[in-house]
Amino acid sequence: MTPLIDPFGRAITYLRISVTDRCDLRCIYCMKERMRFLPREDLLSLEEIDRIAAAFVARGVRRLRFTGGEPLVRRGFVDLLTSVSRHLQTGALDEVLITTNGVQLATFAERLARAGVSRINVSLDTLDRATFTRISRRDRLNEVLEGIEAAAAAGLKVKINTVALKHDNAHEIADLVQWAHARGHDMTLIETMPLGEIDEDRTSQFLSLARVREDLASFWTLTDLPDRTGGPARYVRVEETGGRLGFITPLTHNFCEGCSRVRLTCTGKLYLCLGQEANADLRAPLRASPDNEELQSAIDAAIAIRPKGHDFVIERLAKPATVRHMSVTGG
Ligand code: SAM
Ligand code: SF4
Repeated sequence: MTPLIDPFGRAITYLRISVTDRCDLRCIYCMKERMRFLPREDLLSLEEIDRIAAAFVARGVRRLRFTGGEPLVRRGFVDLLTSVSRHLQTGALDEVLITTNGVQLATFAERLARAGVSRINVSLDTLDRATFTRISRRDRLNEVLEGIEAAAAAGLKVKINTVALKHDNAHEIADLVQWAHARGHDMTLIETMPLGEIDEDRTSQFLSLARVREDLASFWTLTDLPDRTGGPARYVRVEETGGRLGFITPLTHNFCEGCSRVRLTCTGKLYLCLGQEANADLRAPLRASPDNEELQSAIDAAIAIRPKGHDFVIERLAKPATVRHMSVTGG
């Protein structure tokens, strides 16, 4: 089958799949306290997700990342991972990855490793219990820390994702980097992105990573690394800790030119760019027939309208660039 190449010559080799919009936390930059979640009947079944994943793998996607919402709250999720891992055995797929908040990781770590997952991203914005409870609106820091330990013990490679928040964790970022690197985990810092309505004012939460980097460089030696992961992060080596640190800067640095990824929502919409509304429904063609012909045509039609990039702008942070939350599209 022909590989997927968008109108700007970028090959699509990475698919992120959100398996649920539900979550056991309520991070202030991501959700409202009172979220209206999608009715369960709107969700793709796990078998349908498996079929769509297979359709993309057949077209050259080499990496699948499962996310949410919180993927570990979806019942049967590990069975889905075990099923898609058959593509690892045939050599068609390089990696099966997940992004999780870590709350249930202690329970699931071993099973994830057995299901074929090699690396996981765990979101952790603070090491302080009160701050964690404020940011996530749930008192669950200990579970997350235990989860990270269990993941490492199960042989999963862990990367820590931290959203930089001006009022909540700006003063703690160097400690977090040190903590992660001391345990052998890479870390990535993320700027808040204007996705979906939340309860707080985003402009007041926004912390430029250019400033964070400057600050870290005043006491550490940061050496630029050429590593690209087909995604938005730029990496440095922190010479003093020996660890890798990534910066995802959608607002201060445009990262679209090398972007190889598209995103599938839990209702079967394919989003072609995180910051644009351009999308295509794959659920109807999927359900229209048991063979994948219509589905493949819908995927081709979607890739043909892939936009060149996003246009997040700092001044527009107060208003969401998209109406959908990160928990719907998958971070
Ligand atoms: N629940 C899982 C977790 O938190 O890792 C997976 C889904 S979450 C939407 C994925 C990532 O997106 C997390 O690292 C989270 O911090 C980040 N995120 C959520 N909303 C964001 C926003 N508005 N701007 C920037 N990052 C955001
Ligand atoms: Fe849940 Fe992840 Fe969003 Fe936090 S960032 S509310 S853990 S989906």
